Amino acid sequence: MLSVNQLSKSYGDQQALQDVSFELAAGERVALLGANGSGKTTTINSICRLLEWQQGNILFEQQDITKSTDYMRHIGAVLGGCRNVNWRLTASQNAEYFARLHGTSKKQAFKTITRLEEQLGLAQYAKKEVGKLSTGNKQKAALLSALAHQPKLLLLDEPTLGLDIQTVDELQKIIIEQSNELNQAFLITSHDMAFIEKICTRVIVLNKGKVIYSGDIKALKEQLYHFEMRLKLTPPDNTQIEGHLKELWPNHSHLSSEDEQIIVHYDSPEQAFATINWLAQQAIVPLDLTINPLSVETAYQTLLDQEVNA
Ligand code: ATP
Repeated sequence: MLSVNQLSKSYGDQQALQDVSFELAAGERVALLGANGSGKTTTINSICRLLEWQQGNILFEQQDITKSTDYMRHIGAVLGGCRNVNWRLTASQNAEYFARLHGTSKKQAFKTITRLEEQLGLAQYAKKEVGKLSTGNKQKAALLSALAHQPKLLLLDEPTLGLDIQTVDELQKIIIEQSNELNQAFLITSHDMAFIEKICTRVIVLNKGKVIYSGDIKALKEQLYHFEMRLKLTPPDNTQIEGHLKELWPNHSHLSSEDEQIIVHYDSPEQAFATINWLAQQAIVPLDLTINPLSVETAYQTLLDQEVNA
């Protein structure tokens, strides 16, 4: 349905995207992940045609989006800062305006808007102008407008920002339902790995404007470290162990210092045993030693930190 081909975009001297390519099929839910400044918003804004790029192209149903006359009818977007809604209108007026603009009948629009308002917990704020709503409710209004006209492709840039846990749960259900039942495709950026893990089957990871991973979320998890060991040692033991770890696990662990601790990330627990044995052999007694499993979120952040520092 959507095909992004070797997209490159610079803001002056700042290269934001470099040869970014990926595909999105109807009914797919794909996450666009990456650290701050990796190019996620630039990608989404390019697909929304809010930006011009220097190289590459974007095709929607095999048609170049810059040349298609009705492309915009088929997309819905939630952009940072709730920019897709008029703050002088209520949430439902906004949603109805977009639905009608996209050719949805009044009856169908009313039915969908009423259902989504209930699901998103917006019904009680129906008569308030969006500009007067709280940050979380403004985000709900932005989601309502993007979802109400049931477009073929939805671009959600940080959709969970400001939402309470209950609404995040509802949003997960809405996205899964709509992609399954209406065959809508979703491209979602988020720093919330738990949210992404629940709804997306595929992830694309950007780093410094380049795609560094594209594929199954399970396979991505397998690439992540699963354990961390934290050690507190007195000098000069701390420098001695750094040398040992670099030699022993050059590709399987990395070191960072935080609160005078040495943090080692491991693929599997037995790697920690080897280091503990080495400490015993050297008669080094740590001031503190803990081994903890890493959450997917922390492990993923570790992967990004390594790429950023590479
Ligand atoms: P975040 O997670 O912080 O939202 P992001 O992955 O969405 O980040 P982008 O906003 O796409 O990243 O930014 C990619 C790069 O382009 C960054 O280096 C950023 O500083 C730069 N950039 C983005 N917008 C502009 C702009 N309007 N002018 C100049 N540089 C920009």
